[in-house]
Amino acid sequence: MSRQYTIALAGNPNAGKTSVFNALTGARQHVGNYPGVTVEYKEGIAHHQGQAVEVVDLPGTYSLTAYSPEELVARNYLIGQRPDVVVDVVDASNLERNLYLAVQLMELGVPLVICLNMVDVAKTRGLKIDADKLSRLLGVPVVTTVARQNQGMKELLAAAVELAESEPEWRPLNISYGSDVDQGVDEVATILQGAQERRGLLSARWLAVKCLEGDQEVIERVRETPELAEKLLPVCDRVAGHIKNTMDDNPDSIIADYRYGYITGITRQVVSSEREVRMDLSDKLDQVLTHRLLGPLLLFAVLYGIYNFVFWASEVPVVLLENFFGWLGGAVEGALPPGLLRSLIVSGIIGGVGGVLGFAPLIAFMFFAIAIMEDSGYMARVAYIMDRVLRIFGLHGNSVMALMVGGGLSGGCAVPGVMATRTLKDPKARLATILTVPFMNCGAKLPVYSLLIAAFFAHRQAEMLFLLTLISWGLGLGAAKLLRVTLLRGEQAPFVMELPPYRAPTIKGLVIHTWERTWQYAKKAGTMILGVSVLMWAAMSFPGLPQEQDAAWQQRISAAPSAEARLELKSNRAQDELAGTIAGRAGRALTVLTNPLGFDWRANVALVGGFAAKEVIVSTLGVAYSLGEVDPEHSQSLSKRLAAEKGWNPLKAFSLIIFVMVYAPCLATVVMIRKETGTWRWALFSVGYNTLIAYLLALAVFQGGRALGLG
Ligand code: GDP
Ligand code: MG
Repeated sequence: MSRQYTIALAGNPNAGKTSVFNALTGARQHVGNYPGVTVEYKEGIAHHQGQAVEVVDLPGTYSLTAYSPEELVARNYLIGQRPDVVVDVVDASNLERNLYLAVQLMELGVPLVICLNMVDVAKTRGLKIDADKLSRLLGVPVVTTVARQNQGMKELLAAAVELAESEPEWRPLNISYGSDVDQGVDEVATILQGAQERRGLLSARWLAVKCLEGDQEVIERVRETPELAEKLLPVCDRVAGHIKNTMDDNPDSIIADYRYGYITGITRQVVSSEREVRMDLSDKLDQVLTHRLLGPLLLFAVLYGIYNFVFWASEVPVVLLENFFGWLGGAVEGALPPGLLRSLIVSGIIGGVGGVLGFAPLIAFMFFAIAIMEDSGYMARVAYIMDRVLRIFGLHGNSVMALMVGGGLSGGCAVPGVMATRTLKDPKARLATILTVPFMNCGAKLPVYSLLIAAFFAHRQAEMLFLLTLISWGLGLGAAKLLRVTLLRGEQAPFVMELPPYRAPTIKGLVIHTWERTWQYAKKAGTMILGVSVLMWAAMSFPGLPQEQDAAWQQRISAAPSAEARLELKSNRAQDELAGTIAGRAGRALTVLTNPLGFDWRANVALVGGFAAKEVIVSTLGVAYSLGEVDPEHSQSLSKRLAAEKGWNPLKAFSLIIFVMVYAPCLATVVMIRKETGTWRWALFSVGYNTLIAYLLALAVFQGGRALGLG
C-alpha cells in the first residue's frame, strides 16, 4: 500500500478554504493550535477511492512574507513539513489579488493544484475565466469548484492525489523582477549557493529574494552563521541601496510590482469580462499601448523617434570627440621624433582607442533611450507586443530587450545585449537569442557602414542605413529560426509576459542605467581594443621593407618630377611595405577564399583585425590605404580614396557591408557568450555559424550581382 499523502490547503481569507476543507473531510477533523502562537489549525482525513488522505487547513493569508504570525505559520509549515501537495483555494471573482499568493507558492516551488473556487460568484459578476488556459500558463492543474455546493470536490481531490502520486519535485518558479533586482538577486544567490547546501531544501534564489525583500525571519537565520552574514548582508544593503537609487523605491515593492506584472500578464489572457471593469492608470495606458493595431504602430513611431533623437543628439559630441582625438594624435606626433614609438602611440593607441571612445556618445544616447523604455515599464509592453511575431522565429517577447541593446536600432553593443538575455527562462529560446544578438548592427559596425555608404551610396545615405537595419533583423530572425528547427529544436513552453505597472523614470535612475551600460562598452576600449590595436599595429608594421628595397623607393620618390607623382609613389611604397608585413601576408593568403566575395587582401587584413573588434576595420582600412603616409595637404578622406580606387565598386562595397554585418562576433562578445552560456562550445559555435552565413551571403551578393551585370 502506498503511504498516506498530506494535502495542505492554502488561500486568502474568505476564499472558501474552510468550505473546501469541510467538503473534503466531512466530520473527520481535529482542531489544534500551532505551538507557540495563537493561530488555529485543523487536520482531517479525506477519502479518495478508498485511500485515506490527510488534509491540513492552513491559516488564510494574502502573502508568504514574515509580516504576520499567520503568514509565518503557513510558510514554516510548507517549508518544514513539506506536504505532498498544496491546494491553493482561489476566489475566482477576485482573481488578480488571489493569484498573488499563488505566485508566491510557485516561487517557493511547492507542488501546487489551484482550486478555482467561487466560479458562481464570478459568473454573476460577468467574469469568464478560461481555466484550461490558466492551467497551461501557470503549468499547474486547475480545478473549478463551488465549495459551498460541494461542486468539483471529487475532481479536486483526484487532481491533488494524482499530483502527489507523481512524486513531484519542488520546482521554484523564477520570474523577472526587472534588470536591477534580477542582477542583485543573482549576486546574493551566488553567495548563498555555497551555504545553501546545509539548508538543503530551499533554493538559493528564493532565499536571495527574501533577503532583498528584507524578510526578518530569513535574515535572522542568515545571522546564525556569522561568516555568511558578514559576506551577505553588506551585499544585500548595497544592492538595496542601488535599487533605491535607480528606481526610487524599496526592493520589496518593486518585487511586488513585478509579481503583479506577472499576474496581469496572465489575467489579460484568461479573464474576459462582460461588464465594464474598474481600471487603474496602467490598465488605461495599456488599452492604447498594447492595442492590437495601435500598439505596433505606436511602437514603430517610438523607435523611429529614438532613432532620430539618438543621431541628432550625438552628432555634436561625436564630432567633438573625433576632433579631440585628432588633435591629440597631432600633438603627440609633433612632440615625438619620427619612428616606431611615435607610430605606436599615434596609430596604434590613440587611433585605436579614440576610434572606439569617439563613438561612445552615440552608444550612450542609445542606452539612454533604452533606459527610458525600460524604467517606465514600456519595454515590457514592447516585449508583449513583439511576442507573437518573435515566437514565429522561435524567439520570445523578452528577446526584444537583448536585441535592442545589442544594436537592433543601430548603435548598441552586443556585450550588454548578450547579458540582457538573462530574463529569458526558457534555455533554448535564450540560447537562440544569445546567438541572434551578434546579427544586430552594433555601434562598432556603424562606422564601417558610414565609410562605405559615403564612398559608394552617397546619394542614399539614410535609406541605406534603414535598409541595413531591416536586413540585420531579417537575417537575425532567419538565423534564429534555423537554429530552432535544427540544433535548438524544442517545444515552446507557454510563457507569461509580465506587465508590471508603469512608473515614472527618475533622472537619477536613467543616468545610472545609461552609465552602467556605456561603461561596459567603454571598458572594451580600455582593455580589449587597446591590446588589439597594438597587436594590429605591430602586425601591420613588421617586418618593414628590406633595406635595399626601401632605398630604391626613396630614390624614386626623390626623383619624382612633381608633387603629385611624389605622392603617388609614397603611397605605392606604403602599400608595398604593408604587403610584406605579417598582416599583409595573412591578408594575401586569404584571398584564395575571399576573391569570390570581391575582397582584396587589404580588406582581408581589416576583417581579420575586425574579429578582435569591429571598430578596428575602419582604422585598418585607413592604414592599409596608406592615409597616414600621405602629405596632409593632399590627403583625401578615406571614403573618397576608396571610391577612387580601381578595385572597388558599389557591389564590392555592399558585399563587404553584408559580410561585416554578419561575420564572427567580436572577441569581447565571444567572451561574454562563453560567460553567459557557461561553455566555450556555444562561443566558438557562434564564430563559425556567423562566419559561414556571412561567407555564403557575401558570395551570393557578389556573384549574383555580377551575374546581373552590377559589378
Ligand atoms: P475561508 O476564510 O477561506 O475559510 O472561507 P470560508 O470557507 O469560510 O468561506 C467564506 C464564505 O464564502 C462562506 O460564507 C462560504 O459559505 C462562502 N463560500 C465558500 N465557497 C463558495 C463558493 O464556491 N461560492 C459561493 N457563492 N460562496 C462560497
Ligand atoms: Mg476558514
